[in-house]
Amino acid sequence: MATIFVSGAHMPRTLERLAEVARGHDVIFGPGGLGAAEWREAAPRVDALLASVRDRVDDAVLAEAPRLKLVANVAVGVDNVDVAACRARGVVVTNTPGVLTEATADLAFALVLAACRRVAEGDRLVRAGGWTGFAHDLLLGRSVHGATLGILGLGRIGQAVARRARGFGMHILYHQRTPLPDGLARALGATFVSTLDELCANVDILSIHSPLTAETRGLFDARRLALFRRGAVLVNTSRGPIVDEAALANALREGPLAAAGIDVFEAEPKVHPALLACENAVLTPHIGSAEATTRAAMADMAVENLRRVLAGEPPLSAV
Ligand code: NAP
Repeated sequence: MATIFVSGAHMPRTLERLAEVARGHDVIFGPGGLGAAEWREAAPRVDALLASVRDRVDDAVLAEAPRLKLVANVAVGVDNVDVAACRARGVVVTNTPGVLTEATADLAFALVLAACRRVAEGDRLVRAGGWTGFAHDLLLGRSVHGATLGILGLGRIGQAVARRARGFGMHILYHQRTPLPDGLARALGATFVSTLDELCANVDILSIHSPLTAETRGLFDARRLALFRRGAVLVNTSRGPIVDEAALANALREGPLAAAGIDVFEAEPKVHPALLACENAVLTPHIGSAEATTRAAMADMAVENLRRVLAGEPPLSAV
């Protein structure tokens, strides 16, 4: 019999699936997460941890759980888990890649459209009763159709965004550490740019799809944001700490950025007050994969990973 710790609040679907696979095992619910008393009390006997992006699984947490064999993260990003420390302690880490690709690309594209066409500003104006009627110069935005889109990280989600962009007649430039095979890049209509600085300087809209790692943390700082063309738009549905929020707010206020669409933040759920004050930023509360069938598929994948590891089988997706 294994002990499974379920950290935080999960979807009913996750709990149903868990109930199916956890028969014969001891399941402990820790709605307060890894900082709360339930975890501290249970940690010495926990074999498997069902975690979400809110959980910081670092070496100190691992030290509290010497029997731990698995961290099953209900997310594709694993920046909340110290993967090297897990490896050193023989703890398997699993994630949920692929099943959330299209939903996250949809949200990224929603933010591209909303930021470029000032949708949230318009909504606020109408609701506040400030709209006085049609005007030729009201809320002039920038065109998405035909614009040049930069994609940082043309992986699963980046490619799904590129496919959407082709339907909008966009020109696509991308940057990542290793260029895609020529045939795939050609099929996506995407041209490789060898540095991120060059990408920033040559696009109208830039969408971030790289993971948060030591290399990508703080990539969009004041210096880099200053490289953008005047009127450019930045969209981030990847992870907040890739962008310096204070510097972003400054670039939105003083230029060169005209707008931004941001789903992820440096210190969630806090948002830098200067960014909150930017009317030209469309802000969403980390809902990239928040679509019902997607969340169900993520739950199924995470629980199946858990079942497999506890049964001594290879997981669907080990990190
Ligand atoms: P993926 O398929 O692994 O793609 C990641 C891409 O980033 C790859 O093309 C990779 O190419 C590139 N990359 C990695 N390190 C880089 C670096 N240092 N500099 C430049 N490019 C780099 O991952 P995915 O499934 O598309 O997911 C991407 C990220 O989206 C996740 O890590 C997660 O943080 C985020 N996400 C957010 C939400 C949300 O709710 N907002 C939902 C799902 C996912 P190279 O290795 O060649 O560099």
